[in-house]
Amino acid sequence: MVLDDLGSSLRGTLDKLRGKSRISEEDVEEVVKEIQRSLLSADVDVSLVMELSDSIKTRALEEEPPSGTPARDFVLRIVYEELVDLIGESTDLPLEEQTILLAGLQGSGKTTTSAKMAWWFSTKGLQPAVIQTDTFRPGAYDQAKQMCERAEVDFYGDPDGEDPVQIARDGLEATSDADVHIVDTAGRHALEDDLIAEIEQINDVVQPDTSLLVLDAAIGQGAKDQAQQFDESIGIDGVAITKLDGTAKGGGALTAVDQTDSSIAFLGTGEEVEDVERFEPEGFISRLLGMGDLGQLAERVERAMEQTQVEEEDWDPEDMLTGQFTLNDMQKQMEAMNNMGPLDQVMDMIPGFGGGIKDQLPDDAMDVTQDRMRTFEYIMDSMTDTEKEYPRAIGASQIERIARGSGTSEEEVRELLQQFKMMERTIKQFQGMGSEQEMQRMMK
Ligand code: GDP
Repeated sequence: MVLDDLGSSLRGTLDKLRGKSRISEEDVEEVVKEIQRSLLSADVDVSLVMELSDSIKTRALEEEPPSGTPARDFVLRIVYEELVDLIGESTDLPLEEQTILLAGLQGSGKTTTSAKMAWWFSTKGLQPAVIQTDTFRPGAYDQAKQMCERAEVDFYGDPDGEDPVQIARDGLEATSDADVHIVDTAGRHALEDDLIAEIEQINDVVQPDTSLLVLDAAIGQGAKDQAQQFDESIGIDGVAITKLDGTAKGGGALTAVDQTDSSIAFLGTGEEVEDVERFEPEGFISRLLGMGDLGQLAERVERAMEQTQVEEEDWDPEDMLTGQFTLNDMQKQMEAMNNMGPLDQVMDMIPGFGGGIKDQLPDDAMDVTQDRMRTFEYIMDSMTDTEKEYPRAIGASQIERIARGSGTSEEEVRELLQQFKMMERTIKQFQGMGSEQEMQRMMK
């Protein structure tokens, strides 16, 4: 994750301010040094680091904290505001008809990002189309086509075409029914003259409303040159950062944003079409600083619930509140959780869980939880409908059969039944809590 290091080291430094009501110049120096160290090791451009840390220092020393504000919160607030200021708003992408051009070096993730963005626009009720003009990289056509099929969005490409400019022209015509056109372009291993000439020609034909530079989060100091060249040739309005699920620090992307005086549009967090987030500066920085991001979490929960309900239309989570809680309900809840994405990413969005508690968990705790959920699913798949309806009636011989059928141990089956009882108790407490409407509000 971008600047993950900043999050944890800064939290450590700020925690030293806990309990203090005033901060000394020494305290400020220490915080600023920590910020500089993290940003530099995340490959953020040196002059940008200096600029940022200078403003934090000046503000922390000169501004008077509102009375009663603990020193730690005051400094945290300043760091937060300065980072928001640096990163700015998310790139403006109205939910309406538009054309978006993607630029970047080969392997930066353009093709993947074009399909992801199309998927994202489709979840907002628009009809996007991807136009693949990359005739340089073998495989680009097939890859884009497959991803667009998976995303269920329109696609245009010409596997035998040799002229990207012509493909762009034909593509816009062939997909005239679509409202959002996303044009993917070829990259090169490095910034070469023919790459720049080609993208300028495509740009002239496509006349995009927005041009995005796609950057691998692993890019370091090279980001500045790349951003500058693309910005000079076609004008860059925003940056999409990819591969944030890896170990890369992503500092180069901040440099690119600063260099092009643009903003971040999307974050790529995996290889699948759904692994994309619209960039939300406040939420992103809150997450970075370990303050949680409830907005993102709410969106994911909503999406996961919708998906689960589409798959199983006769299941309504609200039935749990009025009727009897069964193992089927528990299974649906677990599916909904799985649909939200990897647990560690979900936890990052919950205030208090971010750095703090999560950092204290053993590294493999998340895997264990996810493995356990998978085991539970196998077990439930081996149960009969009646057993799922009345789990309390499951006896020793059934446990033995279910364990054998699901390739798990009897102990794991018992564990699942135990978990069920716990959830049932919780639901019962909800049920005893007043009117149906109130309960539904609480569940939401
Ligand atoms: P292009 O040459 O710029 O079109 O790059 P591609 O879209 O082909 O991406 C290059 C490689 O990076 C592919 O193997 C992608 O699957 C992978 N990739 C792209 N975005 C992400 C991401 O957000 N996370 C991960 N883990 N891999 C990604």
